[in-house]
Amino acid sequence: MTSSADAPRPLLGAADIRRLAEELGIRPTKTLGQNFVIDGNTIRRIVAAAAVDPEETVLEVGPGLGSLTLGLLDAAKSVVAVEIDPALAARLPATVAEWRPDLAGHLDVVLADALKVTSLPQEPAALVANLPYNVAVPVVLHLLEHFPSLRHGLVMVQDEVADRLAAGPGSRVYGVPSVKAAWYSSMRKAGVIGMNVFWPAPKIASGLVAFTRREPPVTKASRAEVFAVIDAAFAQRRKTLRAALARWAGSAPAAEECLRAAGVDPTARGEVLAIEDFARIAAARLSLHAAL
Ligand code: SAM
Repeated sequence: MTSSADAPRPLLGAADIRRLAEELGIRPTKTLGQNFVIDGNTIRRIVAAAAVDPEETVLEVGPGLGSLTLGLLDAAKSVVAVEIDPALAARLPATVAEWRPDLAGHLDVVLADALKVTSLPQEPAALVANLPYNVAVPVVLHLLEHFPSLRHGLVMVQDEVADRLAAGPGSRVYGVPSVKAAWYSSMRKAGVIGMNVFWPAPKIASGLVAFTRREPPVTKASRAEVFAVIDAAFAQRRKTLRAALARWAGSAPAAEECLRAAGVDPTARGEVLAIEDFARIAAARLSLHAAL
């Protein structure tokens, strides 16, 4: 028999979301990627896939009307929720007080743009979020850069973006997001979510990506210097690295010299290189300059 202590707690359904939206007079905007989850089972699936430890503080970006926030409060020690929309941020504590009165003290709401936030009231160990789609990749990269306490996480993004983030060298969808994400973490696809669990329903499926932080490659080049090589290599993705990196290195022969010094074939394309290769190319340029 299931005791009331371990019975699943209620989550927001379609009628609750509609009632809250009506009360706030909200019309979800595309600009802010406002698609709210209206299905408790999807929330339970996301929280389970995120493998949140009960001792962890979770960072949630874009709590919206609180669908995922309630599920995270049940699983984590506390939640820090960063929301850009003032009406949604202001309503969230009352929603939590109504649905989880016992956990209301476990929530901090921060009214801010997640792309700009650099300090939080608590150090989060995990990022779990249904991200606004148009800024999903920059938000993930910004948070991994500024919050080293983030050890792992799970984000819901457009399915196509999930595939990009999780792609490895040689994959058709491997690109700038994949390589930059690999600087900080190893990312893997953790599922696909249909459109009908949202209000309003988006036109495309969503994907879950789970990540675990890893040490960046050991290199004397800075992260910014390595990222500059990545941007240059993929800006002209069809070209050989010798040609694509010509402007970055000063000339095609200079690019070739860096590539050879890094042990990378100058006729290869960026899409076959791993993050460690980009780090070696950036470091080779520093060494060649130092030798001048
Ligand atoms: N977590 C809620 C859910 O699952 O139902 C809402 C998710 S909705 C896809 C994205 C949320 O992110 C919205 O609440 C939106 O207002 C918020 N948002 C959009 N851009 C943001 C930004 N730059 N920083 C913080 N929140 C943002």
